[in-house]
Amino acid sequence: MISTVPHNVRGVAASCPQCTSSLGRIWHPDMRIPRGWALAAGLFYLLALAGPFVQISIFGRLQRADIATGPLQLTVQGFDLVGFLVLAVTIIFPGIKLGIVLLTLFGIRLEHQPTRFLKAIFRWYPLIGPWAMVDVYLLGFLVAYTRLTAMATVHLDLSLFALVGLMISMAALDGSLDTGAIWDALDTGPAPRPIDADHRGGHLIGCHCCFLINRAEPGMACTRCDTVLRDRKPDSIVRSWAFVIAAMALYIPANLYPVMLITQLARTTPFTIMGGIVELFAAGLWPLGLLVLLASIAIPLVKLLSMACMLIEAQRPSGRHLLGLTRTYRFVAFIGRWSMIDVFMVSILVALVRFGQFANVQASTGAACFAGVVVITMFAVESFDPRLMWDGAREAAPETPPDPTLIAEPA
Ligand SMILES: [Zn+2]
Ligand SMILES: [Zn+2]
Repeated sequence: MISTVPHNVRGVAASCPQCTSSLGRIWHPDMRIPRGWALAAGLFYLLALAGPFVQISIFGRLQRADIATGPLQLTVQGFDLVGFLVLAVTIIFPGIKLGIVLLTLFGIRLEHQPTRFLKAIFRWYPLIGPWAMVDVYLLGFLVAYTRLTAMATVHLDLSLFALVGLMISMAALDGSLDTGAIWDALDTGPAPRPIDADHRGGHLIGCHCCFLINRAEPGMACTRCDTVLRDRKPDSIVRSWAFVIAAMALYIPANLYPVMLITQLARTTPFTIMGGIVELFAAGLWPLGLLVLLASIAIPLVKLLSMACMLIEAQRPSGRHLLGLTRTYRFVAFIGRWSMIDVFMVSILVALVRFGQFANVQASTGAACFAGVVVITMFAVESFDPRLMWDGAREAAPETPPDPTLIAEPA
């Protein structure tokens, strides 16, 4: 829905009166803070790639790993897709995300800013964001670390601390970057015409990418960022159902099959996700066990079931629990990537524990199925359009929308 948010009110956060979604903070854009964090993140990124981040020794034999070792070993063991996925979300996407932000933040300072180029790359920023998973990777490392200390002497290296720095500076960058202000700075075309409340003289479409409200027909390009405008995401329900059903089908083998095979002193034991959680609890590491239980078992299940509820609501609108369902949608969209913890743990163990009959970790079918569940569920959430649920309800009972809720933010 369309809300009018007052301009230039500092320190105020606006939220949608209908679904309570944040409409963004209203502030004077100060690009120096995100610029600083982006530079710091770029530096940490290069440092993190520069060397090994951990090494272990068993019986005097040494093994070290950098970030790329895990994906490489997964490929060697025949799990090419999982290896590529880990490589993409830990190295490629964080790198692209940082590249986009750095180019944009410094590009808009130029006297003759390359507007077309900057718009073309900044459009990708919101799409790539969830796929840069340095933070999740570090949590996966924490789980792997508890397993490693049980079987070897573990030595942490410089790159690990660079990864922690990268995680912190990327979080600070996300928190301080006002994407609306960037789009405003890139917007050199004619100012968008004011919106008249009667919707006269055209059809109002909010851009999916930069959130500018255009007066246009579906299929035309957004006047600010050139994204093709759509009233609602195309084929949203069919595509989301396809992804949800595929992920549900993979969820079962992901939990039944072992995610890895651990060999210690010539004895090989299969290791399922549930088995790993039981082990963490048995070792007294119950906060970590609880975390993995939530991330690996509960969250994927809750996501798939609530996606199914939302899809049913969109197809057969009952008008009930709309606010709850929309909040759930935002929650699952935010939480989804954290289910990658176990995949990262396997990739780190596979990279390090390579001592033949003494100690060895081999990835297994469950890991591939599990990675599939996480990725396909993220696609399902991405292709669903929560506004479809409200559309159905509005057809039943049309009413005039109230003004946006303004909440004063603590300074
Ligand atoms: Zn809303
Ligand atoms: Zn746009």
